[in-house]
Amino acid sequence: MAHLTLKGINKIYPNGFHAVHDFNLDIERGEFIVFVGPSGCGKSTTLRMIAGLENISKGDFYINGKRANEMGPRERGVAMVFQSYALYPQMTVYDNLAFGLTLQGVDEDLIDEKVKRAAKILGLTDYLDRMPRALSGGQRQRVAVGRAIIRKVEIFLMDEPLSNLDAKQRVTMRSEITQIHRETGATTIYVTHDQTEAMTMADRIVVMKDGYVQQIGTPRELYFDPVNVFVAGFIGEPPMNFLRGTVKDGALTFGEITFDLSGKLGADAAKYEGKELVFGFRPEGIVLGEQENAYRVPAGVELTEMLGDNTNVYVDIADKKAILKVDPHDTPEVDSRIVFSIPYESVYLFDGETERRI
Ligand code: ATP
Repeated sequence: MAHLTLKGINKIYPNGFHAVHDFNLDIERGEFIVFVGPSGCGKSTTLRMIAGLENISKGDFYINGKRANEMGPRERGVAMVFQSYALYPQMTVYDNLAFGLTLQGVDEDLIDEKVKRAAKILGLTDYLDRMPRALSGGQRQRVAVGRAIIRKVEIFLMDEPLSNLDAKQRVTMRSEITQIHRETGATTIYVTHDQTEAMTMADRIVVMKDGYVQQIGTPRELYFDPVNVFVAGFIGEPPMNFLRGTVKDGALTFGEITFDLSGKLGADAAKYEGKELVFGFRPEGIVLGEQENAYRVPAGVELTEMLGDNTNVYVDIADKKAILKVDPHDTPEVDSRIVFSIPYESVYLFDGETERRI
């Protein structure tokens, strides 16, 4: 049995705004699920319905097979970490960590043991006597996570917990949260708008847009097998390149460039005559030079960004822009002309009207 089940979940706010449409998902015990999508797509609303902080307008929510729509937050056994981690400013780190357990009347020795264990996991042992104001943002965020993990809960909910940290702290905390998840084994749902966080942390990712689930899958599935233009463009950095055109004589043509669709689609190409298609390829899905079984593309180099392990090359292909990722040793000159190849298997085609993958 799934640990958590969301069945046809909808949220309609009192002002009539329909924020979440028909959300369906089974979450297994111990899974790390990430809800990802642009601002306003409904991910926090969904998380808050799971937490019991927001009522469910329509649909059913189950915990261990038991309907939980009407259960209060406490009864659900969830711990939550928010974007703004409000610590008690007048209490030490130790007391902040202990507070929830003290309220529950837990034995002092046991509290001490749990506080010290959480502090050890989070690298806060040396800071237990400090006040929150004497901590860095990253350390405060760790205390907030510590407060949640110290209560033995089976469900851990996190809403953009790293958004107040700088880039370096985010990378560190990312791996710490993954580690904590491994140690506690709690079913975790994590909300972010950052696809890198989603890709690096999740067992499965739920991609949302405008209140609708677009796709649910492992990071690998979303990267290699996106169902539509939105998911293809959202997952991956830099994002996938898209060229939109209408099929004529079995090909998409952009200025001097002709993509003969039979290369990618074989005999099926004929089905798309006269249709609008979106031709997608990832920056890293190309090879410089000419290759067999590939579309060969002449391009003008407009800008290069040396990143160390690779170079992003901004090119103009028949007045359309694209980004290529190349080995830094192969970085072309700005203003030069190059030819690159997109192997047929690295091409993603989408229906121009529905934007669904074909
Ligand atoms: P963000 O990353 O910006 O927090 P999100 O994906 O988490 O975005 P939600 O906070 O779930 O988005 O909001 C989804 C939509 O619902 C937004 O358009 C938001 O304006 C709207 N919304 C949120 N709370 C309410 C409310 N109380 N009443 C009406 N509309 C709301």
